[in-house]
Amino acid sequence: MGLHKNGCIICGKDLKYFNPAKKLVCAKCGKEFEATASCEDGHFICDACHAQAGYEHITSVASHTDSKNPILIAREMMQGDGVNMHGPEHHYLVIAALLAAYKNSGGQIDLEKSLQLARERSRKVPGGICGFWGCCGAAVGSGIFISIVTGSTPLSEKEWSLANKMTSLSLDSISQNGGPRCCKRDTKLAILSAIRFARENLHIEMEQPEIVTCSFFGGNPSCKKEECLFYPQKG
Ligand SMILES: [Zn+2]
Ligand SMILES: [Zn+2]
Repeated sequence: MGLHKNGCIICGKDLKYFNPAKKLVCAKCGKEFEATASCEDGHFICDACHAQAGYEHITSVASHTDSKNPILIAREMMQGDGVNMHGPEHHYLVIAALLAAYKNSGGQIDLEKSLQLARERSRKVPGGICGFWGCCGAAVGSGIFISIVTGSTPLSEKEWSLANKMTSLSLDSISQNGGPRCCKRDTKLAILSAIRFARENLHIEMEQPEIVTCSFFGGNPSCKKEECLFYPQKG
């Protein structure tokens, strides 16, 4: 099995998206799924298989870091082999980076249990929902983060409101920066929104770099370069 980080993880070719979904067999686990993407050669990898190695690396970084800076934690997570250029593992990555920084900044949470909740919930957030549902999974990740740290459930009042507000603020920031999907850009935008939100609403001061730039654009053929606020020459 190849280890391409960009496009198809088997052969590296570009992904094609289709509507409606097609029944395809995952090239890794052999199970059949309703798929909305495959590569140009027809390779399909299900979300769970796509995310597996990345999830393990993300959990390991979150469990060991003492950083209060979720942008830097996210960058370290993104450098792991199992984290692809784009992919639904970023939905978990957003939550895990925020949970670790929140705990290291004085947030009172059980990190191990919180990461487990993050995995359970983020696994249900499919790849591609940014474009198909109008609800980027990185933004959903920031809402899950607030739900976990406030203990929100569907019956909560204030916590319910905070979690939904968080997702909406991240979505607003992500939408203003425009498509096409870039999991690196949208992860940063969701995390920056969550840093501000936690400071204003939960009184937890996480850190962020003075200037946030991207170091992954070389692996992204659809990078908007100078039009992206994180492209280094703009910094
Ligand atoms: Zn392929
Ligand atoms: Zn699979």
